[in-house]
Amino acid sequence: METTVALAGNPNSGKTCLFNELTGARQHVGNYPGVTVEKKEGKYSRNGHTIHIVDLPGTYSLTAYSVEEVVARDFLVNERPAVVIDVVDASNLERNLYLTVQFLEMGVPLAVALNMGDVAKKRGIEIDREKLSILFGVPVIPTIARSGKGKEEIMDAAVRIAREEKPRTPLIVSYGDDIDGALLEMEESIITNGFLTETYPARWIALKYLEMDEQILSKGQKQNPDVSAKLEDLTRRVSDHLQKTLNTYPEAIIADHRFGYINALVRQGVIKFRDHHDRLYASDKIDKVVTNRFLGPIIMVGVLMGLYHFTFTYSAVPVGWLESFFGWLGDAVSTHIPAGLLQSLVVSGIIDGAGGVLGFVPLIMLMFLGIALLEDSGYLARVAFMLDRVFRVFGLHGSSVMAYIVSGGIAGGCAVPGVMATRTLKSRRERLATLLTAPFMNCGAKLPVFALLIAAFFAENEAVMMLMITLISWLGALLVAKLLRSTVIKGESMPFVMELPPYRLPTFKGLAIHTWERTWQYIKKAGTVILGISIVLWAMMTFPGLPDSQLLEFENQRAAAKAAVSMEISREVESYEGKAVLSREASNLRNQLLGIDSREAEAALRNSTAGRIGTALERVSKWAGFDWRTNIALVGGLAAKEVVVSTLGTAYSLGTVDPEESRALSEILSKTPGWSPLAALSLIIFTIFYAPCFVTVVMIVRESGSWKWGMFSIAFNTLAAFILAAAVYQVGLVIGL
Ligand code: GDP
Ligand code: MG
Repeated sequence: METTVALAGNPNSGKTCLFNELTGARQHVGNYPGVTVEKKEGKYSRNGHTIHIVDLPGTYSLTAYSVEEVVARDFLVNERPAVVIDVVDASNLERNLYLTVQFLEMGVPLAVALNMGDVAKKRGIEIDREKLSILFGVPVIPTIARSGKGKEEIMDAAVRIAREEKPRTPLIVSYGDDIDGALLEMEESIITNGFLTETYPARWIALKYLEMDEQILSKGQKQNPDVSAKLEDLTRRVSDHLQKTLNTYPEAIIADHRFGYINALVRQGVIKFRDHHDRLYASDKIDKVVTNRFLGPIIMVGVLMGLYHFTFTYSAVPVGWLESFFGWLGDAVSTHIPAGLLQSLVVSGIIDGAGGVLGFVPLIMLMFLGIALLEDSGYLARVAFMLDRVFRVFGLHGSSVMAYIVSGGIAGGCAVPGVMATRTLKSRRERLATLLTAPFMNCGAKLPVFALLIAAFFAENEAVMMLMITLISWLGALLVAKLLRSTVIKGESMPFVMELPPYRLPTFKGLAIHTWERTWQYIKKAGTVILGISIVLWAMMTFPGLPDSQLLEFENQRAAAKAAVSMEISREVESYEGKAVLSREASNLRNQLLGIDSREAEAALRNSTAGRIGTALERVSKWAGFDWRTNIALVGGLAAKEVVVSTLGTAYSLGTVDPEESRALSEILSKTPGWSPLAALSLIIFTIFYAPCFVTVVMIVRESGSWKWGMFSIAFNTLAAFILAAAVYQVGLVIGL
């Protein structure tokens, strides 16, 4: 069998850099099954041996609080890599070793890549790696992942560890009398009962019970409910005792001791020299300004405005090109496929439907680039840090900020990983409130909807509108969270400590990779799921078609119009191909005929399955200013929000009868009666808040552990969205917007 080597470490420690250096171009990027956490795999060859390399998601810990942690842990347990290379940021040694210690406690075969030596040196930090290697009993190899320095050496060390047959004894850290005593007692019953020991070391399982690790608990309850109950009893006893004596809980004690252990280790001369004058290095200096109580929020709003301004300004031209391209494609197809169902499917269903979503690729790409820049530089972590204070007022938690941002808090995320990201919240109530409100953020799927409406109705103030949309969604989410936290999910808040990673200058390669991967996801979704739904909706908007009697009636109207003029004039109109200039009578007749065609198209659309649903909903939706076409689009949006755009594209395309009319949807909308900036605003508000897409609902059910919360999301969000949209629309009408 092929040797598998896993790269693990804290986020930003340089794993991906090392991975890229090792594998060159031969890599495969995907997602871990079932979750949207990036999975990179590749091959490394040296001296004729090929080694399979996996880049694990970055984590600070191995407790099952976040998706990344669960994925990394499951990988270690289920795939059993021959060796784990722990990439450690030498300029931040103590914090990084927290994870290293946990690997050692798990008994994972380990080699440490001591990375970023150059940065450490600049900060006046010098590390005795031999000492570290002896203390941990694992090889410690200096690397500079950015330039590939040390990659051969670390791989040689890894291969050496992989070949070693000797059993590895897990590292034992002392957690103080109370916990150590309990651990021993627990270990004993774990070993005698063979409880989960086929996969994990006994002491480690005991630790996870004390940390109340949900994943291990549920595994344990399944395997042997009796032993599990006994361990849970012991945990409760220790917990109560610690609560009484120290007013704290086991997890906190465990974390304290782990850090204490590392601290002691480092003091034994692992860090040889630290230049104290340089303690307040660049990051701290920048943070004095950037996270300042008064300047911080101003800078934050400025950064967001800058991002939106940049995105809309520079995407306008390429978005226009794509629009022209799809318009040209539609026309070209129309001339090559005879009028009929096939032409309608290709032009109205596929090109004007899914093509409308693809048209926004340049905008999406620039937005992702901007977000990658904020993320890679370390700024996003500051945003979470600053908003923590605000979030507490609303019964949420600093970690909720990250879940919001992942869901599209800045624009262009996805609520599915966002809902999963709430696992970092330890309090169930805060977690529930976060995962129920995260879908209000502006995910990448809502973005084309906003972009379309902004282009059609607010072209002058694009960035300001986008900022407003962002603020509305955050404010709405926070208010709903507050509502939930003071009614159905009442309860205390948990304390929150957050460390800020240092600022880093993002690399061009890193930005390019991040941007492209996310853009590609968008394109793939548009080309598969959205395309499929577009076709289904096209069919629903096309069938059953008009009854013969009505068809005949429109035919008669046409005949009557032609009969009213002379033969020459009808012939002039029939042979008209858009080039010649028509006589006045002919032009009249043409307009009359186009009017009949468009009434027929509208009647057919109204009579279709989707049209009937949309028309039925109009009775209610008119309060918010949505006509039946918009209703169809919004119902389609329940499957995925991009579908709102593709469905509007198809609906208006099916009604476009004049081949000379523009195909650009934003232009069509701005000219259609019934549409107005106010109606667009109402639709934007509804889109922000109404039911999450199908996949998100499934995720909410899974993460909250109850289908009721999924149902709640659909019903509550849609109702709230409608009330808000209708209020805005009605007030707008009254004040004459
Ligand atoms: P990951 O999150 O662990 O995958 O980290 P990345 O590989 O994306 O690296 C994070 C940042 O650190 C990038 O900007 C890298 O260019 C940079 N980086 C990685 N290794 C080194 C190094 O050894 N020295 C320096 N100066 N920068 C590095
Ligand atoms: Mg990475």
